[in-house]
Amino acid sequence: MTADRDIDRPYAVAERLGPLVRRVLARNPSPFTYTGTQTYIVGDGSNVAVIDPGPDDVEHLDALIATIGDAEVTAICCTHTHRDHSPAASPLAARTGAPIIGCAPLTLDDAGPRADAAFDPGYVPDRVLADGEAIPGEGWTLRGVATPGHTSNHLCFALEETGALFTGDHVMGWSTSVVSPPDGDMSAYLASLQKLYEREQDTVYYPAHGPAVEKPRQLVRGMIGHRRSREKQILRQIEAGRTGIPDMVAQMYKGLDERLWPAAGRSVLAHLIDLERRGLVGSQGEGWVLTA
Ligand SMILES: [Zn+2]
Repeated sequence: MTADRDIDRPYAVAERLGPLVRRVLARNPSPFTYTGTQTYIVGDGSNVAVIDPGPDDVEHLDALIATIGDAEVTAICCTHTHRDHSPAASPLAARTGAPIIGCAPLTLDDAGPRADAAFDPGYVPDRVLADGEAIPGEGWTLRGVATPGHTSNHLCFALEETGALFTGDHVMGWSTSVVSPPDGDMSAYLASLQKLYEREQDTVYYPAHGPAVEKPRQLVRGMIGHRRSREKQILRQIEAGRTGIPDMVAQMYKGLDERLWPAAGRSVLAHLIDLERRGLVGSQGEGWVLTA
């Protein structure tokens, strides 16, 4: 995390990032959102798509409406339904008449752990975009790329004309993605990283938080390596007798902002569940043991 996170940012104004792509930053900075949520407007012609409309905030919505101008909104797209991404979808739909097309709503089975406070229960898409399905516009085509892991419903959007990929919270340049069980799934996350690594057509990533990623496959390869080394670290912690997650986090995340320790603990749990599936560890009482 860089120290300049709190300096003045271009909130509530559109910035052009390249052909077909403009960005509007929402004023919701935090340790989890970096400078805030970035909403992307795709298209320069008579119609546009809006990706990750962000929090339900009047200043941000007004800035989106001003950026859209006279264009017709073909689709309001959400990468996933965390509260910093999707709550503005329905007020934006009300103001523009546009359909909400994108990730699936999260099915919250009960009031149990999946009904996480971080989720937006008010998200109701008009159409769920399946992996590989396209949304066509004037001079642009957005195609859904299913990337479960950060959440089970996470979807990236590929802009075919330029090779840009809107990566939501799946891959970001400023931070690794939080993977918090039970909805967050490390096995799925690693498979989704591998899926992006194999996409040679992507030239730039536009994440929902932080700067554009200009060498996307290089970053993804590094992230896969980072997760593999975290795995090894966890196995070594257990070997050394630190079998509880808080003890592991204190050792493994020295130097991390302590506000992020609980989230780091969720990621360690996600790794442990993945390692358990692979037969390498097992839970025992409050802690974890090696089984291989
Ligand atoms: Zn998220």
